[in-house]
Amino acid sequence: MDLETRKEWLDQRVNTTARRVNREPAEISLLAVSKKQTAETIRSLAALGQQSFGENYLQEALEKINQLAELALEWHFIGQIQRNKTAAIAENFDWIQSIDRLVIAERMSAQRPSIMGKLNVCIQVRMSGEHGKGGITADELLPLASAVSSLPGLVLRGLMTIPENTSDTEKQRASFRRMHDLFDSLRSQHASVDTLSMGMSGDFELAIEEGSTMIRVGTALFGPRN
Ligand SMILES: *Cc1c(COP(=O)(O)O)cnc(C)c1O
Repeated sequence: MDLETRKEWLDQRVNTTARRVNREPAEISLLAVSKKQTAETIRSLAALGQQSFGENYLQEALEKINQLAELALEWHFIGQIQRNKTAAIAENFDWIQSIDRLVIAERMSAQRPSIMGKLNVCIQVRMSGEHGKGGITADELLPLASAVSSLPGLVLRGLMTIPENTSDTEKQRASFRRMHDLFDSLRSQHASVDTLSMGMSGDFELAIEEGSTMIRVGTALFGPRN
């Protein structure tokens, strides 16, 4: 399958899934996860109308952001953040989805060039039991969100979560549902919150059924990563 066929297939699946649960397909945005993909591949997808791209590795991302600067794409950082890399992230990205520590958020806020406008952030919440990929627990969300939302260089947009590695669909659904409940409580406290980033290649349909507003898809869009 080529890129155009995969993109059409994905759009179709998003539309069908949304309609099935009485949601508007337009409520769900697609973040194309382009880690390990070349600038040329990103350019081809951009030519098909895709605007937002997600990257995990800073050095790799910076090269592509520079090469594609004239396209004015929207770049999301979705990887783990090292403390000494916050300035480069704050200066080059439009969104950070993987905030899980206040000190990182404070540095990003201070380092964000004011000419770029505020940096959009999501707090990463981990599902029960998942360790090693970053993220805070559900209990920690509201206090961290209040602190983050008071930082002048940032705007709190919502929460991001990486699914548990399980083939148990009902367990997965229950986790997504808990994230949606958390999203609702976050939204009731912060007017700027509008994004629930959950769902990847293997589970985006389930995530859409459970209220995701942004799916992050790599493999199903670009094919396997080398
Ligand atoms: C790699 C990655 C994705 C995309 O994963 P696929 O399974 O290839 O769709 C989404 N979110 C995060 C945080 C990732 O690291």
